[in-house]
Amino acid sequence: MVREEPDEAAGARYTASMPDRLVLFDIDCTLIDAHGAGGRAIIRAIKDVYGVEGELGDYSFHGRTDPGIISDLAALWGAGEPDAAASADGTQPEVVHELVEAMGTPAALIERRVDECIARYLDALREEIARVDVETLPGIRELVTALAADRRALVGLLTGNVAEGARLKLEPTGLLPLFKVGAYGSDSALRADLPAVAVARAERLHGRRFRGKDVVVIGDTPADIECGASLGVTAVAVATGRYSVDELAAHEPDHLYADFSDWRPAYDEIMGGAPDRTAGSSGPAERGQRSEIG
Ligand SMILES: [Mg+2]
Repeated sequence: MVREEPDEAAGARYTASMPDRLVLFDIDCTLIDAHGAGGRAIIRAIKDVYGVEGELGDYSFHGRTDPGIISDLAALWGAGEPDAAASADGTQPEVVHELVEAMGTPAALIERRVDECIARYLDALREEIARVDVETLPGIRELVTALAADRRALVGLLTGNVAEGARLKLEPTGLLPLFKVGAYGSDSALRADLPAVAVARAERLHGRRFRGKDVVVIGDTPADIECGASLGVTAVAVATGRYSVDELAAHEPDHLYADFSDWRPAYDEIMGGAPDRTAGSSGPAERGQRSEIG
């Protein structure tokens, strides 16, 4: 039997062109500030689908997934409970009827309609995003552009937004094409499930398994810091959301920034330890890096 000798030179070239760091960004309050568009859209959708609304009180959207927020708020506001049916305003008779007739617990009723609520949310989000100026946070444009141009990095998203919601929020920034892989709230309502989803997608894209500290998760909440703990990822926190530097520091991220306005040190730390085997190499236009995000 003839055994083919591996072409070592070709293998070395292939390895040198492969990213060895998977850099995953949260969206809300990490990449952008959409000035409440997402929250307003989700509240509209819950009212339309479940017939309930109410005060947010201490509830925080931060670090949560879209399906998780819908389940939480629908339950908080009494969806599926007889009182909610009785107090519905009558403009949605089919909702009232369904609430009254529903078999099972309020939680079961809520879960059964989450997909419908997500669809309604996306319609509302299109309208809300059109009404605001989506703000790209300080230094983000420079940081993401530099990482996307670095052959050593594969840049992606790790977000509680459903995939279409992520696209709607990032499209106005012009940054969307720079993200080549993603894990979304539409993949799991549990943020802790998402790093493994992103790693699996990156492996399908590049045939490489990113492990441990070579996976970098960047976000503005304790949930972002903690979601990759079981994989031993590098956690990078940025205090551009509702959590202060001190509050985030208590959760012991590997790196912590007030914001990315001075983005070069962050860039170096994100890429830290990854040898630059491709110094002087071509930029992203010549890389032919594959993408799963349209
Ligand atoms: Mg966030």
